[in-house]
Amino acid sequence: MGLEVEELSHRFGDRLVVDRVALAIAPGEVHCLVGPSGCGKTTTLRLIAGLELLQAGRITLNRRLLAGAGTMLPPERRRVGLMFQDFALFPHLRVGENVAFGLNGRDRQSRDKRVAELLAAVNMTAYARAYPHTLSGGEQQRIALARALAPGPELVLLDEAFSALDTSLRAQVRDETLTLMREADTPVLLVTHDAEEAIRVGDRIHAMLDGRIVQSGTPAELYASPANPFVAGFFGPVNRFRGRVVSGTVETPLGRARAAGLAEGTSVETIVRPEALRVARPGAGGTPARVQVKRDLGPVHVMHLGLADGSSIKVRQAGQTEAAVGDQVEIDLDPHHLFVYPAQE
Ligand code: ATP
Repeated sequence: MGLEVEELSHRFGDRLVVDRVALAIAPGEVHCLVGPSGCGKTTTLRLIAGLELLQAGRITLNRRLLAGAGTMLPPERRRVGLMFQDFALFPHLRVGENVAFGLNGRDRQSRDKRVAELLAAVNMTAYARAYPHTLSGGEQQRIALARALAPGPELVLLDEAFSALDTSLRAQVRDETLTLMREADTPVLLVTHDAEEAIRVGDRIHAMLDGRIVQSGTPAELYASPANPFVAGFFGPVNRFRGRVVSGTVETPLGRARAAGLAEGTSVETIVRPEALRVARPGAGGTPARVQVKRDLGPVHVMHLGLADGSSIKVRQAGQTEAAVGDQVEIDLDPHHLFVYPAQE
């Protein structure tokens, strides 16, 4: 049950932009699709929605075949709700009428009830009689979202659907929307650039690179064992060092790191998370460094430290630290947050 996508591939001309994508979303689960710009996220969503003609693969929703093996249901018969960045409201219809648009066939009372429920979920109850042009971009986005959800779709696809909203409203609208979907047992696939959003709402995250899903897992799994530099860097700024494998290890400005499974001489990129580093007093036996910048962000400190080779690294520390700008310190490294990958030229 839920959404099942198998071996989905798609070309524009001779360019392969979706490459054997497979994913399954159980009823009520929220999955996030993340990846750099142009990696094929929107095309994947468009294929699932039926806006792009299927070339290869198979898509089923609650065991109904949407596309594959000669079948190609048109978008309006898929029971898929979608909300893209470039949504458009009907300008001549009031907000309430926009939301009611996909509800023909219901009696008036049940239609009004559904519209009221959705307007409440996106915090727009007071605007039911307004025309779209009188609303801000974020308000219009919330109405488009309500319209997509109103007919009770069996699957919801959201492409940066919350991105035009400011931070506090964004979390509220997002959480209320996704709660509605979870309660209705509706699977959701959400494309987002925002790591915090993916971590907060995703039961699973799928990381996409050059048309392929390169890693799928819970946010904690991707954080603990990122399969490549993109996933390692997805969760926040990182320190990156270039080097070469010598005797199974690689030299970094923070000392030698193990390069397990990589051939001798391989050119590698070492990634160290800022939270891997602990600042200690001189004499503790770590790598010597000097504090260049220190920012107190309440529960955490962010520091930039200058190393002997002239490079600078980012450190993130919980709690208080006595070190001040200009102080000589030493750095200890937690190897759990250090990752070595073959370098990508
Ligand atoms: P973004 O995060 O920037 O929205 P994306 O991961 O959603 O990117 P897609 O929009 O799926 O990426 O595009 C994947 C690739 O396919 C891009 O290189 C894009 O230029 C190309 N592409 C998309 N639509 C078409 C089209 N209709 N014809 C030709 N090429 C296209």
